[in-house]
This record gives sequence, structure tokens and C-alpha cells, in this order.
Amino acid sequence: MSDSVKPGPHFLQLPGPTTTPLRMMEAIARPTINHRGPEFRALTVEVLEGIRTIFKTSGPVIIYPSSGTGAWEAALVNALSPGDAVLMYETGWFATLWCRLARKIGLEPELLAGDWRSPVDAEAIGARLREDKAHRIKAVCVVHNETSTGVTSDIAAVRRAIDAAGHPALLMADLVSSLASVDYRHDEWGVDVAVGGSQKGLMLPPGLSFNALSEKAIRAAETSRMARAYWDWAEMLDANRRGFFPYTPAINLLQGLRVAIEMLNEEGLDAVFARHRRAAAATRAAVARWGFETQCSDATAHSPVLTAVRMPEGVSADAVRDHALERCNMSLGNGLGQLDDRVFRIGHLGDFSEPLLLGTIAGIEAALGYAGVAHRRGGTEAAIAALSGTGMAGAADMAA
Ligand SMILES: *Cc1c(COP(=O)(O)O)cnc(C)c1O
Repeated sequence: MSDSVKPGPHFLQLPGPTTTPLRMMEAIARPTINHRGPEFRALTVEVLEGIRTIFKTSGPVIIYPSSGTGAWEAALVNALSPGDAVLMYETGWFATLWCRLARKIGLEPELLAGDWRSPVDAEAIGARLREDKAHRIKAVCVVHNETSTGVTSDIAAVRRAIDAAGHPALLMADLVSSLASVDYRHDEWGVDVAVGGSQKGLMLPPGLSFNALSEKAIRAAETSRMARAYWDWAEMLDANRRGFFPYTPAINLLQGLRVAIEMLNEEGLDAVFARHRRAAAATRAAVARWGFETQCSDATAHSPVLTAVRMPEGVSADAVRDHALERCNMSLGNGLGQLDDRVFRIGHLGDFSEPLLLGTIAGIEAALGYAGVAHRRGGTEAAIAALSGTGMAGAADMAA
């Protein structure tokens, strides 16, 4: 047998990109259509309407042909002016990257220090805003689900903190890894600009990104002075009103997006969110059984989307990932930034079922053994027990 033959499906257990369901693949594989013709106009109208149900907004959602990073930049260049102060919170690697991007394009970001194990501290944001009597800070930018650590933050609490401080800053939220996996309510939570991507909870390949806008954000863009052309909301909104885009959109991905929205609404968003929470709880049960810590140290902030598992001192997380790939044909997420080789990340989002989750947990348990990492056995049983909600007593009695 050739080394390159790996029977069975590859387990793409990353917190993005995620596995694309066949029904979406088929839609994407259909022939590319004319993006200035009537068939495409109908598609545009449908996806622009449908995507609002995912963001829970009655306002416009912009769709770019880019990765999530492009929509980060779009949010900033449309709503802000050169030299504007921006308040950010260091939840982990992605918050740090967004901050670097802001500095590179000529903003003055201030990153409130975090420990990469806890959620956004809304009180700290409120306190900083109260100090800013001159209202130099024009936007507060936070990551909803920090994909480097597996910590989810309370976005509504950040809104309340801004309002309680009586501060006019815009609120921007990165939903790249939470959209369609974790409850999000754009209008109700008062977010001004939300940033999304296609390759995580939406289950599409990478290549689409999103900005959901409030009225206040659209007004801010009318007077903001950052240089922008490709990312300009105004041109996009104008073309979208006529059912088109100002340049060639990612036509085939939009064909897939129509199916993604259909599938999410068929299952029901609440059921989708509950499925993710169950998978996360079962994964944590396995991690606890193995005897490891999660990177998230706040029991109220565990991510439904991914679990970052800390390896004991002196143990290489990448060695576990290498064995998972070689022996189990499974990709796990690597540690990012200061967590390089310290954690591996288990993605449990998107097109995901209980048997797939159990295959993932069992594969990791096997990889721990192959890598020679000391651990307690029985993580897979602990995950099954968590899924069935029955605890371990019966199984322990049988084994005794
Ligand atoms: C994946 C991710 C990004 C970056 O998205 P790209 O599509 O890689 O550009 C940004 N923020 C978060 C929270 C992410 O998970």
C-alpha cells in the first residue's frame, strides 16, 4: 500500500476551516453564472436577505470576496479616520492580530492586557472609557469567540459597559469563529459592526467575509476619512440595492451560501447552538478524564466551538498533532502565538455529529498513546457519558 493512500475521510478537526457538507459542495460545483444577469440578481437578493437571519439584524450585511481578515480591515477603514484611537481587549492571538492590523493602517489602537485564558472584562473597558473624557476613543473592538484559546466573551455586557460610561464609541465585534455556532444578536446587543467569515460555522470553504452594519456605523462612514476603495461600504450598498456587486463577487461561494443559510434555518439556529454546546461539554469531559487542563480557565466562558487543551510542562502539543495526522488521518489546530506547541485545539463546530465527535476524541486518545504522553484512559467513555447525560457510574461498576 502506498504511503499516500489514507482510507476513510480525513478528520478536519480545526476550529476553521471546517468540513463542507456535500449539499453545499454540489451548489458550489454548479457552473459559474453571469454576475450581471437575472439569475444572479435573484441569488443576491436571497443571500443578502437570508444572511440577516444568521446575524439577527434588520440592517444591511456586506459580503466580500475575502478571508475574515479583509472584513476586519473593512470595518476599520469604513467607520474611522486616520489617527483615531481604538480600544481593544487582548483575549488572545486573534485580538492581537486585529490590533496589529489597526496600527498598520494608521489607527492608534490601545490593547487592554488579558491573560489569554479569560473572556473580555467589560468592567475594564467601561473604566477606560470613563477616563476618556474627550471621547478620543472612536471604537471598541472585541473578539466574540477567541479561537486561539477557546474562550467566548459576553458582547452584550460590553455594550452595557459602553452605555453605562455614557461614551459614544462604536462597538465592533469579531464573529469569525462564532457566527452560526454561538448565539449572536446583532440588533438586540447593539453592535455597530460585526465581522464574519465563511469557513467556520457557516461550513463553507474560505473566501467570503461579512460586515453587518448598524445605522450608526453607516452614518459614521459618511464622514470618516480612512482611504478605502475595494472595501467601500457605500459603493457596495448601492450596488447591492440593485441586486449586484461593484466587482466580480465569489459567485460559486454565494451559491454555497444560499444552501448554508437554508441548512442552518432547517435545523434551527437554537438547535445548532445546542448541538455545539453538547459537543463542547463532551470534549471537556474527555479532557478532564485524561487529566489535562483547558486553556480557558473561566468555567462560565468555555467556547462551544473549540477546546484548547494545555499539555503538561515539557510535553510537545505538536508531537500529539503529528501522531494524530500520521496515524489517525486527523488534523488538529496548533497553538498560536505564545501558545505555540503548548496547546492543541480541537474544533467541534459546523457540520458535526456525535459519532464524528466520538471518533475525534478516540483518535486523540490514541494519538496521546502513540506520542507517549502520560494520560488517564477513558476520555472517550467520559465523552459518551456526557453526551448521553448519564454519568459514569454504570460503566465503572461493570469494569470493576
Ligand atoms: C479565523 C479567524 C480570523 C481570521 O480569519 P481569516 O479568514 O483567516 O482571515 C479572525 N478572527 C477570528 C476570531 C478567527 O477565528
